[in-house]
Amino acid sequence: MKPLLRWVLDSLLPPSCLACETPVEKDGQFCLNCFKAANFVTAPMCRVCGVPMPYDMADLCVHCAANPPAFTEARAALRYDETARKLILPLKYADHTEAVSGLATLMRRPGEAMLQAANLLVPVPLHPARLRQRRFNQAALLAIALGRLTGRPLSVDALQRTRPTQQLEGLGAAQRREEVAGAFAVRAGAGLAGKRVVLIDDVMTSGATADACARALLDAGAKQVDVLTAARVADQRLDEAGLA
Ligand SMILES: [Zn+2]
Ligand SMILES: [Zn+2]
Repeated sequence: MKPLLRWVLDSLLPPSCLACETPVEKDGQFCLNCFKAANFVTAPMCRVCGVPMPYDMADLCVHCAANPPAFTEARAALRYDETARKLILPLKYADHTEAVSGLATLMRRPGEAMLQAANLLVPVPLHPARLRQRRFNQAALLAIALGRLTGRPLSVDALQRTRPTQQLEGLGAAQRREEVAGAFAVRAGAGLAGKRVVLIDDVMTSGATADACARALLDAGAKQVDVLTAARVADQRLDEAGLA
């Protein structure tokens, strides 16, 4: 939005909470009630994929133990629940981009170590057809906001989707891996050799997309790939067992 227009709107409307209509002091904040309702991802968690674990029973979750992902470490700010959904869903389907800076701020703490060591931030790309339909890539908006907050270099187009993939929702882990395998490629001349990359996305579910992206980045010469997302879906089986 143009600064002047922004200024005019800001002076007319008090800033409201990222997740509800409650007025707050500054743009990009949660109101007190929503902040209390937000579930941050906290330890214990899988050392690699960052999935919340029921208790400090193991270093790795069963998925990472069975199929080690290509990325080194994945971390997220929020558990993907009702509050996180309210924040993130409008990003995907409408022009509600104010939530971006608020989410990026929340991502800084769990991502502190990886962001400090990063040479490059790269968002998970959308397929061009999907991008035309949505008009923007929410992962790229988060990466831009994090680049601004941390001063880390950014490449919004280092990774590209080479073919559209179907929604992964409802697919099992093996099907998800199959659906996204080879769906990403690195742009020629992206200059990844020896770099530590932080891959940015809005939500991580099984980690299949992040894994496929990390493979493409490593194949192109990246030294290490870490993943930072706004929200993380807890393991359904642990949730169903009442353990998470
Ligand atoms: Zn609120
Ligand atoms: Zn794991």
